Amino acid sequence: MFSFTSIKNYHTFLADHPNGCKIAVNHFLSKIEENKHLNSFLEVYAEEAIQLAKELDIKRNSGKKIGKLHGVIVSLKDVIAYKGHHLSASSKILAGFTSIYDSTVVKKLLEEDAIIIGRNNCDEFAMGSSNENSAFGFVRNAMDENKVSGGSSGGSAVAVQAGLCMISLGSDTGGSVRQPADYCGVIGLKPSYGRISRYGLIAYASSFDQIGIFANSVDDAALCLEVIAGKDEFDSTVSEKIVPQYSTLIHQSSKKYRIAYFKQALEHPSLNPEIASSILSVLEILTKKGHFVQAIDFELLEYVVPTYYILTTAEASSNLSRFDGIKYGYRSNSTNADLTELYKQTRSAGFGNEVKRRIMLGSFVLSSGYYEAYYTRAQQVRRTLSNQVNRIFSEYDLIISPTVPSTAFNIGEKTDDPIKMFLTDIYTVFANLVGIPAISIPIFKHSNGMPFGLQLMSSHFNEVLLLALSKEMMQS
Ligand code: GLN
Repeated sequence: MFSFTSIKNYHTFLADHPNGCKIAVNHFLSKIEENKHLNSFLEVYAEEAIQLAKELDIKRNSGKKIGKLHGVIVSLKDVIAYKGHHLSASSKILAGFTSIYDSTVVKKLLEEDAIIIGRNNCDEFAMGSSNENSAFGFVRNAMDENKVSGGSSGGSAVAVQAGLCMISLGSDTGGSVRQPADYCGVIGLKPSYGRISRYGLIAYASSFDQIGIFANSVDDAALCLEVIAGKDEFDSTVSEKIVPQYSTLIHQSSKKYRIAYFKQALEHPSLNPEIASSILSVLEILTKKGHFVQAIDFELLEYVVPTYYILTTAEASSNLSRFDGIKYGYRSNSTNADLTELYKQTRSAGFGNEVKRRIMLGSFVLSSGYYEAYYTRAQQVRRTLSNQVNRIFSEYDLIISPTVPSTAFNIGEKTDDPIKMFLTDIYTVFANLVGIPAISIPIFKHSNGMPFGLQLMSSHFNEVLLLALSKEMMQS
């Protein structure tokens, strides 16, 4: 019987199984079938995956050089373009749309011999915290099927949680990789803004969006990052910085770090007391191990969620204007509509309620008379946060915080209260506002039976340090 623990062990297995990739693909296809009710996958590329597995087995057996992700089975959030495959952002407005090119991450995965097994459900246009905004239904948390998966990359988180693939790629604009990772008990990594190309990622809020990785181990996340990161002529916001060999560098950690945590974050009234005490106990352990741990003030905590929602909805209202029924996907079939009417009807029927709410909110904060009061102010807060983060990282190596204030909630519990839903993002949006890398590592189990994580953040492009300490903490 095939079982997956890590890419390294899988590669050892492949070394003495000539048809190992095929065995692995068949294993995951049957797991996906068994777990269909979780609604993690919108589409499964069964035949293609089997075909590619056979080709990879032949390649390996012939002694040719194999890729770093040889035979590794990956799924993609439905916002990442894969040539010749449907792409819908879990929205009706992209009905029938097929991508005509590969995103840069897909190209890099395939160049290193990965196998893409399917496309995962998510909140529509990656807007949400529970995967309940998908036009194709919610995703169930495999740990307790009455609970949400988290969002917006809920399908991807559950794909890794329930053992339906080895690695999944999501996107993280304000926590959409880390938050569902926390709810599902897996690793969720959001690298620095500009570490991974966004070419071929459907845009939500372009100055925040970043592709992220779900994995079962820090080593697997590090290896995947090493493959998909790096400069790209198709995305001018990607850094030219050399990509470190994360998968080897993270083993070299015996250093003692200077770690800060935000007093206001751990004292916040929305934070579940058991989560607070678990984080504090880990901070004590780190101190005992010789790391320098200190509480610092973060007076702006109450501002991060409003700032995030003003700026991201503003960017979304512009990014989503391209979905008009003319260029892509769904078009209203009303016959006597002029062009403006056609736009209206298409967008009214094609977009779901949350997306419409955000387009309206974003248009409002950008409109004349309100622009200064909302958009400009929010930009100023973002600037202040960036200055603050630079000061923090001149004194500390890392910041530790909870990932989410509570564990996964019941399906339907927060759908009527958008503010409550937005507030689940209180600890994750900060990293996106300032562009630093952040990871959620699944090291806790709540007395209610659900898993939860701890979030680590480091300075820009310091993923090595982030991953090294994460690995150390996952081992202890
Ligand atoms: N929950 C946040 C939002 O709805 C984060 C989404 C994301 O990171 N894509 O905007």
